[in-house]
Amino acid sequence: MTMANSLISDLVVANRILFSEGVLDGFGHVSVRDARNADRFWLARSMAAGLVEARDVMAFDLDGAPIDARGRAVFLERFIHSEIYRARPDVQSVVHSHSPNLVPFGVTPVKLKPLYHMTGFLGAGVPVFEIRKVAGTETNLLITDGRLGKALARSLAGNPAALMRGHGSVVVGESLQQSVYRAVYMELNARLQAEAMRLGRVTYLTAGEARAGAAVNDRMLHRPWELWKRKAMGK
Ligand SMILES: [Zn+2]
Repeated sequence: MTMANSLISDLVVANRILFSEGVLDGFGHVSVRDARNADRFWLARSMAAGLVEARDVMAFDLDGAPIDARGRAVFLERFIHSEIYRARPDVQSVVHSHSPNLVPFGVTPVKLKPLYHMTGFLGAGVPVFEIRKVAGTETNLLITDGRLGKALARSLAGNPAALMRGHGSVVVGESLQQSVYRAVYMELNARLQAEAMRLGRVTYLTAGEARAGAAVNDRMLHRPWELWKRKAMGK
């Protein structure tokens, strides 16, 4: 299998896992940067993640333009991916979702913070992107062009994730395995944080605990990946 083929088959797996783990539903998407050409990335055609096959994966440039569309419909929000890859050379994979437990943290003053060792990566900070600041109060909230994609990438800055007020979130990683891990556990952290807050005052990780927790889990990304893959692909 060539490197491109293996990245594409991993991207198919990532789509299926993110559906199976409740991060993506009929909406949302995951991409990976082309390992041979940093100015391109792979993303499925416009469709539900749970149904993606290798033949649905398309190449895009950093303007969000498809390289070889062949009549296939493309995601309106592909500029999330193109502009983050442009702004962040360290990023190899991007997940954009509307996963439900994160939405409350985008629309209230409550900050999403790491409360257990699985989500130490959140300790780096999770900014909230406010589309009204760049496009006013009449938008459909979607990132439908390069200008909005650039504004989102500016808000994300050097962080692992950003919430999008009234919409969803974006999570990045140095690999597909890392962005998928982060997307799954960020959603879990949001659910646990809301539950913990109902019980009483929450003790969050210190900055040092968050860093150390993230470092150890980053060495074990293959373990949940293989499990989630088996569950999602049925083999
Ligand atoms: Zn969206």
